[in-house]
Amino acid sequence: MQIYILMGVSGVGKTSLGIALASRLNLPFYDGDDFHTKENILKMKSGIPLNDEDRKGWLKNIANKIREDSQRKGGVFACSALKEKYRKFIQDLAQANIEWIYLYETFELIEERMRTRKNHFFKPEMLRSQFDILEPPEYGIHLKVNASLEQTLMDLMEKIDKPEMGIIGLGVMGKSLALNMAENGVRVSVFNREIAGEEEGIARDFYEEHSSNYDFPWFNDLQAFVENLPKPRNILLMVKAGKAVDSVINELVPLLEEDDLLIDAGNSHYMDTERRIRELRKKKVLYLGTGISGGEEGARKGPSIMPGGSRKAYQRVEIILNLIAARDKDGRPCCSYIGPEGSGHFVKMLHNGIEYGEMQLISEFYHFMRFYLKLSPAEISDIFIKWNKELKSYLLEISGEILQKKESGELILDMILDVAGQKGTGGWSTQAALELGISLDTITAAVMARNISANKERRGIAEKNYKVKKGIKADDSVKEYLFDAFKAAQIINHATGFDLLHHASMEYKWNLNLSEIARIWTNGCIIRSSFMERLVEILKGNPADHILMNPEIIKEIKSHKESLSEVVSKAIIMDCPMPVSSAAVNYLNNFSSAQSSANMIQAQRDYFGAHTYERTDRPRGEFYHSLWKNTN
Ligand code: NDP
Repeated sequence: MQIYILMGVSGVGKTSLGIALASRLNLPFYDGDDFHTKENILKMKSGIPLNDEDRKGWLKNIANKIREDSQRKGGVFACSALKEKYRKFIQDLAQANIEWIYLYETFELIEERMRTRKNHFFKPEMLRSQFDILEPPEYGIHLKVNASLEQTLMDLMEKIDKPEMGIIGLGVMGKSLALNMAENGVRVSVFNREIAGEEEGIARDFYEEHSSNYDFPWFNDLQAFVENLPKPRNILLMVKAGKAVDSVINELVPLLEEDDLLIDAGNSHYMDTERRIRELRKKKVLYLGTGISGGEEGARKGPSIMPGGSRKAYQRVEIILNLIAARDKDGRPCCSYIGPEGSGHFVKMLHNGIEYGEMQLISEFYHFMRFYLKLSPAEISDIFIKWNKELKSYLLEISGEILQKKESGELILDMILDVAGQKGTGGWSTQAALELGISLDTITAAVMARNISANKERRGIAEKNYKVKKGIKADDSVKEYLFDAFKAAQIINHATGFDLLHHASMEYKWNLNLSEIARIWTNGCIIRSSFMERLVEILKGNPADHILMNPEIIKEIKSHKESLSEVVSKAIIMDCPMPVSSAAVNYLNNFSSAQSSANMIQAQRDYFGAHTYERTDRPRGEFYHSLWKNTN
């Protein structure tokens, strides 16, 4: 992996620029001074200058650390390395891919800067001696350090040799990601297919539209696109999930070589990703199934990124992914290696599953308030905005805005057909839950609510047959329960989603880090919220535990549970559908019932099918059968 060494005389700014660069690239930072041997430290403390023999131990320590880090994710080092022989010593011993960054300024300017530095012991003669022995390298990046730290970092980022990326598919996401990468200094080539009369000149038009700011090599010939990329190639597929991905891969494979890397950043099914990884492995082509969330704006300004597959592949593009990702509250990229195989796409699928649940939850609270509490859209918008001061949910934020947006004096929302489809990730989450034997009530309810919305005509007829309480207004007293009810359902929706992630991780041996997944979902993605921030900490504790077993959450749910039951029961009595909220109450009641109704199920099964049952008064694993018809 890439190692950056910032070198130059004392006071030139190696440490501050090194720290800034490491933070930008999400790499560890090391100060060369921390690698001196004990003997050197003693000598320096006694004011005895080091000779080249003394420095060998120091340089050896640095080289060893570089070698260690270069096998992991890389690193940024600040080390004076004034003489060529020091640099050669490090390079030979470390055997790593080192980018030397030589920082320079005039003696006068550095002297002036050092004199004015507070708490800094400075001897001008020491600086002079450094200038005397300095041998500027004839290679690497040379950077004059005479601007602000921010500007110098920008200049450096321009010069750093970053891997190149080719993007296939210039739809909504592909275009935004290409611009995001280019803005962050990545060299991006673009390709879009040509279909005569339908899809013409898309790559060229994209190039022309942005040619004043960026120089995107553009292609509509796949072979030319591939041949233009430096080897080993990095190619991001941003095409429609499903058959299109396979068709593009099939066209690409004959053009690819060993160690080329394909990154599928669409919403592919994790099983498809695993199949593609297996197939491409035979051809020694690397593959990353990468979830990306944040929609068009996120892709442009900073999405949340969930790469899964080969770690080696991830490490090669880690810098690029980190550069384009959103940042969490501590400035760290919302991108993290998720795990092997299809885990990246599985995690993205569950992200979308939780998103389905939360979207439906907000929608049904809106619906209840609007049509059963008779609140105006403006009033509901105010309520959402007020709630969001605490919840900081992106979906609640946009819902508050939606409730204000008008066209020709009419609310746009009222002109939108109340039919929603579900084709991918939401339903797949439910399928995965069924396969793993896990309850996913709220997400499933959200998927089913979309399915039922599809039959608009039948709903209209059925309403006439069934709804007898039309036009009745709910008692205003229910208003006081709404916020707590919403919070409880939101927590339960997240808890079930993370529970499925945990079980998938165990079943498929992915070793998912749930706290880290919550962290990369705190910004850039659609389900970012203050609750997600809390989950980062909660999941650090005992990730194997269901979120609803966490003491802090138990306290909270206990105080909100009655509100949720109150709202749901009022809604049901009034014929108002609240599928996700009801699913949340039922999940919680099931989850927290020591005695379930399943003994009756087992008895029924044994009665009609002799399926046997376990007994409460005998050890688990022993199975019994009753002759039901002969008993009284
Ligand atoms: P678009 O429909 O905007 O773009 C799809 C792209 O795929 C176009 O470039 C299209 O080319 C190309 N394409 C479609 N079929 C083929 C094919 N058979 N062969 C080659 N290229 C093909 O989709 P998005 O950019 O919105 O989404 C891309 C992927 O990202 C999807 O998997 C989507 O689920 C996922 N995603 C989307 C998000 C969003 O908010 N939009 C968010 C996160 C993920 P052409 O222009 O020639 O038709």
